[in-house]
Amino acid sequence: MASRVIPVEDFDLVIFGGTGDLARRKILPGLYRRFCSGQMPETARIIGAARSEHDTAEFRQIVRDAIREFSKKNACDDALIGTFLEQLHYVQVDAKGEDGWDDLRDLMRKDVVKAYYFSVAPSLFGDLAERLQAHGIADEDARIVVEKPFGRDLASAKKLNQDLAKHFDETQIYRIDHYLGKETVQNLMAVRFGNILFEPLWNSQYVDHIQITVAETVGVGGRGEYYDKSGAMRDMVQNHLMQLLCLIAMEPPSRFNPDAVRDEKLKVIRALEPIDHHHIVRGQYDATETEPSYREDAGDPRSRTESFIALRCMISNWRWAGTPFYLRTGKKLKARASEIAVVFKDAPHSIFGEEAGRHANVLSIRLQPNEGMTLKVTIKEPGPGGMRLIDVPLDMSFADALGEEADDIPDAYERLIMDVIRGNQTLFMRGDEVQAAWAWTDPLIESWEARSDVPKHYDAYSSGPEDAAMMLHREGRRWREIKE
Ligand code: NAD
Repeated sequence: MASRVIPVEDFDLVIFGGTGDLARRKILPGLYRRFCSGQMPETARIIGAARSEHDTAEFRQIVRDAIREFSKKNACDDALIGTFLEQLHYVQVDAKGEDGWDDLRDLMRKDVVKAYYFSVAPSLFGDLAERLQAHGIADEDARIVVEKPFGRDLASAKKLNQDLAKHFDETQIYRIDHYLGKETVQNLMAVRFGNILFEPLWNSQYVDHIQITVAETVGVGGRGEYYDKSGAMRDMVQNHLMQLLCLIAMEPPSRFNPDAVRDEKLKVIRALEPIDHHHIVRGQYDATETEPSYREDAGDPRSRTESFIALRCMISNWRWAGTPFYLRTGKKLKARASEIAVVFKDAPHSIFGEEAGRHANVLSIRLQPNEGMTLKVTIKEPGPGGMRLIDVPLDMSFADALGEEADDIPDAYERLIMDVIRGNQTLFMRGDEVQAAWAWTDPLIESWEARSDVPKHYDAYSSGPEDAAMMLHREGRRWREIKE
């Protein structure tokens, strides 16, 4: 299979916060990989813009070091890195002052796509948007890209939306959720809407329940104080898990275009029922012999912020009434593994008798590691001895299916940045979607805060608190194992 890389239009991409952690770890190495693949035009320019005092030569050195450190997958040589770096520039700009803005304006070219990546704290989004307009830097086709967190509740998200809307049209605003840039997540849409096989079964009549798990092995050490102000619900559920839930649950859009897809996702969020506290389990990891507990990491011995959460969500619409969506995410769990599992109902009648056991089909979609899909099907155990049934996976690991080409699959950031340049908003969150997600999340958080709910303990590197297992057990179900 030969890979097809279609170069994008010529562009000037300004990365505000171009010297920061996210830019060095993800954005710049990602752009370098797109350069190596031939997707980035030779004339395109990347302009680092940040408060720190650097010149272009120093910025290029920062980026060279970042590529070496964070772009292991690529076998490009020093000469290629050198050519890529020639496309980079640096301007010192203060988001909160007037310094540097005229220099930036003078640097920008006319007649090319202009994109501005706000890789800075959200408190600076409004300032950047205002100054880009005040200094005549952004034209009406310019795009801005904003990072998470997009607010910490409905009120702050509304305020951010308003601050941006004063200066940019919604069609110019790209709110990144990098989960949407993952290959498997898009494949989920291809599998659902490109095959006739699944869609007729994709409803409460045939689907028993759905599990969405995003498990991490890392704790919050190092950024504990920052994390303690948000917690798993704000940090992961409101954005990433909610987006995954939307893609699984949404109705087929009439077209694969930005507003058609986002309209359908929005309907799912609006159809989510409120959750009572019996269907929410929050947890905090305990200390090990050598590692601190969550509360020690957070620097607050009485912290009530959750490093783990499990929820049972119900969607009030014709397709999903009665089918639970179980969501869970947490830090310091037993493996780094993200997965969506669609667990189908048992066959209505077993012709093989009781001893054949129960065998449900499960479609599991792995987001990390080893992106791919597996469909568990029931077959006869080979050999003599009667009709014994076993479950085997029909496995489609992308690495196996695509061979060497799997190495060339762009990572989420690469793909999303190229979508910005192409002007395709399909995989970005619209303002009303983000607000709807907060409108559902806020009352849940308020309710546990009002009850002074204390998170349950869980062993570090386990599957989370026992209560999360009990929540499913009460309903005759169990979580899938968290494993790599
Ligand atoms: P960082 O602190 O490492 O970098 C911040 C950057 O902003 C620096 O380049 C700094 O020079 C610049 N900056 C700060 N104040 C400025 C000002 N007044 N004017 C101009 N530039 C200024 O932060 P980061 O970790 O790179 O995060 C950037 C954004 O991305 C944040 O919104 C963060 O929430 C989000 N984010 C980060 C990650 C990550 O992995 N680091 C992941 C997801 C989202």
